Amino acid sequence: MTMPQQRPIGVYVHVPFCRQRCHFCAFYLEVAKPERMEAFCSALAREIDLYESRHVTAGRPLRSLYFGGGTPTTLPAAQLVAFLKQAQEAWSMEDSAEITVEAHPSTVTYQDLAVLAEAGFNRLSVGVESMNQRDFIPIGRPGLVHEAERAVKAARTAGFRNINLDLMYGLPGQTLESWVETLHATLALEPTHVSCYALTVEEETRLARDIAKNLLSPPNEALQVEMESAAEAVLQRAGFERYELSNYALPGFASRHNQLYWTDGDYLGLGPSAQSYVNGVRFGNVHDLTAYVDFLSAHRLPVVERTELTDSEQRRDALVFGLRLIEGVPLHIVRPDTAQHQTLITLVNQGLIEWREDRVRLTPFGRQYADSVAEQLY
Ligand code: SF4
Repeated sequence: MTMPQQRPIGVYVHVPFCRQRCHFCAFYLEVAKPERMEAFCSALAREIDLYESRHVTAGRPLRSLYFGGGTPTTLPAAQLVAFLKQAQEAWSMEDSAEITVEAHPSTVTYQDLAVLAEAGFNRLSVGVESMNQRDFIPIGRPGLVHEAERAVKAARTAGFRNINLDLMYGLPGQTLESWVETLHATLALEPTHVSCYALTVEEETRLARDIAKNLLSPPNEALQVEMESAAEAVLQRAGFERYELSNYALPGFASRHNQLYWTDGDYLGLGPSAQSYVNGVRFGNVHDLTAYVDFLSAHRLPVVERTELTDSEQRRDALVFGLRLIEGVPLHIVRPDTAQHQTLITLVNQGLIEWREDRVRLTPFGRQYADSVAEQLY
């Protein structure tokens, strides 16, 4: 393993606001209100200052800076630019640092996007979800399909060359045919990266309640498997490489930030509910905006969970997260004569894992059971 000082590091900022909550969404967030956004922005500025003064990143240049949420573009573009500048003053950046902002199509104008691109944001991730308006209704997704088209065209004109589009499949009422149409309509927008997520039913969401009341059917897992295969076929034909279970990229456009999560990289999470992993320690911020603001008003970091991982726990996590990559992980992560090694042998015998030369990875069959494989290795 490389020395901790040499390991890449990224920073994730959780912006906990959306214009309204989609029915399937379980992320920590609030409906955007000006006074709460102001309080958040002051607290986030303090959080960056505190981490800078404590030298938590130990001088390591950032490989990536990622504003996610929530919907970061509920904040004014000038505010996002101010945070980027503060981060650039607090930390040095790799020359090719990837600086991403997530956007909901109806929250950005050409002017906003031009301000963001000019300031140095070089990757835009647009939550498209579907290119079929009918799919939006049962999942409570606000906005119109043509807004995604408008936002992507505006982003390209504004100077963004690296654009990810997020899609969801297995939506209530969605058919294999309409999903394939969504994929083709998405490709017509010429993204460099596409993420395809199967709809999952999270507890205590409106979607879970609607299913419990028989207002909607639960996702059809067999259909979701067909949709996943269709996505792989359509996107690969268009030149995209599937490099992670849910992620496809044109050559050279795999997400540098997200790869940190799957390659045992370090990341610092800012904002309420954000999670961090630095030098073998996992720590997490409080899941409450009021408490987050209170911590930082008292000049205290809002960290409420902290776990120092042993060497074998770090290896376990590197294996479990790394198996999400299609290329898998180097075999040397797994120590012989451990329970994990035995479990891997069982998974190989079940046809879920393959073990070739010096790498271990999920088989195409095993990718359908990735969550179950991860549970068994934990
Ligand atoms: S826009 Fe995204 S983050 Fe916001 S509620 Fe919908 S799914 Fe959740």
